[in-house]
Amino acid sequence: MKKASIITYGCQMNVNETAKIKIKTLKEKRGTIIGVTGCFAQEQGRELVKKFPVIDIVMGNQNIGRIPQAIEKIENNEGVHEVYTDNEDELPPRLDADFESDQTASISITYGCNNFCTFCIVPYVRGRERSVPLQDIVEDVAKYVKKGSKEIVLLGQNVNSYGNDFKNGDNFAKLLDQICKIEGEFILRFVSPHPRDFTDDVIDVIAKNPKISRCLHLPLQSGSSQILKRMNRGYTKEKYIALAEKIKEKIPDVALTSDIIVGFPGETEENFLDTIDVVKKISFDNSYMFMYSIRKGTRAAEMKEQIDDKVKKERLQRLIEVQNQCSLNESKKYQGKIVRVLVEGPSKKNKEVLSGRTSSNKVVLFEGTSILKGTFVNVKINNCKTWTLYGEIVD
Ligand code: SF4
Repeated sequence: MKKASIITYGCQMNVNETAKIKIKTLKEKRGTIIGVTGCFAQEQGRELVKKFPVIDIVMGNQNIGRIPQAIEKIENNEGVHEVYTDNEDELPPRLDADFESDQTASISITYGCNNFCTFCIVPYVRGRERSVPLQDIVEDVAKYVKKGSKEIVLLGQNVNSYGNDFKNGDNFAKLLDQICKIEGEFILRFVSPHPRDFTDDVIDVIAKNPKISRCLHLPLQSGSSQILKRMNRGYTKEKYIALAEKIKEKIPDVALTSDIIVGFPGETEENFLDTIDVVKKISFDNSYMFMYSIRKGTRAAEMKEQIDDKVKKERLQRLIEVQNQCSLNESKKYQGKIVRVLVEGPSKKNKEVLSGRTSSNKVVLFEGTSILKGTFVNVKINNCKTWTLYGEIVD
């Protein structure tokens, strides 16, 4: 049996595509074949094999369905290097995915993006936005739930613009609603929504459906309206705050998380303080915080006012400190509460205790037997640390 090793870096979309790529049965004729895929491969194309001739296959995001074909060609000595980076303006094939965990299944609902945020390479490498037909997604979710998945993650560069390319009225709110009608106990998560496209009907569907996760990821990127404009994000500081407050009001048990970039070209100290202000006001549960880094081929890469690395590092450190305090404050709100937890299995650090996550994506540690893996239990929270809650199972 031939063995394959797939090393995955980057976003959840890459993880999902890895699960689809897993190659189970191909006869060995030639030894190890090395392939590179993802946004980077799409962008670099043939340049990659020029730089690293050891690579056999370069496969763009939109061509992963052709991996078996590429391998066959290499094996039959029909090609030295197989490079597939056509921008196919169609949906990639519906491949069965082989996920690491039988508990979690991720499903791509859109491919590509139309937004052109000035720091981002995605629209150039993954192409324009294309939505997967609603019925196909609902069927896939039903299939995974039947197989035992307890957590379904919908993926897309901008999930809540789902359906904008249809003319039949199908949209993200309708998709969520239809999925929630599938029988069985599961948590429905999705990443990433765009604040600009977070419509009231989506908020209402989430509010009335307990199957939908109470953790919503709402990428802020910057708290400064001036920088948001330069980023081409399509919202202002005030609009973002108003949206977050509306979500909190309609879904009181929600936890908000975010992505934040510091040191975007032209960011002044005052602009940065706007970001700190939004983080404090919204009090995110958690944020993925980054220093801006240049992506070749994007508009921001050409901007003259690049920020010194020292300044970026210092701002990132200050932001992390503020965020950590918010995370601790949000954790403390669970003290004494009883929460429903999906048991993931023994904790990685201490096999004696079980680890699970709440609908709001908080990690909870508690005593119990591993038979409970994959079930939902009620846990009373006795102790709250910044990233972890500690408790005991109750009826
Ligand atoms: Fe699209 Fe997100 Fe990139 Fe903006 S940051 S262009 S929304 S993928």
